[in-house]
Amino acid sequence: MTRTNLLDLSHPQLASLLAELGEPAYRARQVWGWLYKRFALSIDEMTDLPAYLRARLAERAEVRLPAVIRALTSDDSLTRKLLLKLDDGNVIESVLMMYDLTEESRERRTVCVSTQAGCAVGCPFCATGQMGFVRNLTSGEIVAQVLLFARELSSARPGQKQAPAKAAAEGETHLPITNIVFMGMGEPLLNYANLWQAVERLHDPQGFNLGARRMTISTSGIIPGILTLATEKLQVNLAVSLHAPNDKLRNIMVPVNRKYPIADLMKACRSYFEATKRRITFEYVLNDQVNASEELAHELGKLLKGMLCHVNLIPVNPTDATFSRPKRDVVLAFQRIVESYGIATTVRVEKGVEIRAACGQLSAKQAKAS
Ligand code: SAH
Ligand code: SF4
Repeated sequence: MTRTNLLDLSHPQLASLLAELGEPAYRARQVWGWLYKRFALSIDEMTDLPAYLRARLAERAEVRLPAVIRALTSDDSLTRKLLLKLDDGNVIESVLMMYDLTEESRERRTVCVSTQAGCAVGCPFCATGQMGFVRNLTSGEIVAQVLLFARELSSARPGQKQAPAKAAAEGETHLPITNIVFMGMGEPLLNYANLWQAVERLHDPQGFNLGARRMTISTSGIIPGILTLATEKLQVNLAVSLHAPNDKLRNIMVPVNRKYPIADLMKACRSYFEATKRRITFEYVLNDQVNASEELAHELGKLLKGMLCHVNLIPVNPTDATFSRPKRDVVLAFQRIVESYGIATTVRVEKGVEIRAACGQLSAKQAKAS
């Protein structure tokens, strides 16, 4: 029988497991703290649990983290990517960005998390999309990506001699993760239940304790998911990958548009805004000769005019010869036009290109090579 992965359990589920072992309620808080505050890699590390309990717990459960099969750091050390192998051999990737995606001044450490192996949406410029859908990640596989980086950061403290778990046990939280973006491989809103369990777990004030507003879910425009998100008590940020201002082009750029066309998507975005009063970010990956013309910039401006939103312009990270990045002046001209409609925009800073930081690029390469 496979043992339960402790990272797949909610706090109440963990409490039930420990209650079944005849343990008092505070034990669940203790184990939870080991997982989400001290980033323990095994039950063995939970040294303040009595040895008999560690042994009994280990008969039923384990801390099952994906194996790091490659770790890459960008030349400027600000981007780090982990290639992770799941239990069943599937490979996913996660990225840590130690800078601010929007170029605001605050220091950030953002983890970009995958929610699926592969993706069914099939956007042609996206490496993950080219792999097709493989499977949903479990909630444990989603949180594990954050915990692996948290663990690395807690041991990255300059001059630190202690083991990270020990340092954390003594109340030293160092270089914490400040933001999580669900923008790695996969479509988060097509794995809603597991995604949301991961969000709640990472938010839990008794554990990882990351504010909902520090988490961003990016979607290709899955309307039922957006509407469900609007009803959640925890208000995370929503980013919608638009990439084209009309159905004809978006049907190609984001093929799920055939099911959820732009007019319906905008209606869902407006309902989301009504319910949450949260500003939506629209992502627009700029591909030269495809969706970066001045005419399309005007069309985008007209589409979004009057909405409380932000447009993030992202020069594509080319995955093959079909898609390339527009020249800087084309990007800036596009930006100026969109802004002339009273819409706030940012051009995403490009970092980590040499480690193929864009979603799915490395795993796709790995899959091709093997
Ligand atoms: N499936 C979700 C979230 C994962 S993709 C979504 O599509 O929103 C996260 C973002 O990365 C999306 O905006 C996506 O369009 C963008 N992206 C994908 N491939 C890219 C590439 N090669 N260069 C730049 N951005 C890319
Ligand atoms: Fe899937 Fe997002 Fe890639 Fe499109 S961009 S294929 S939705 S992961």
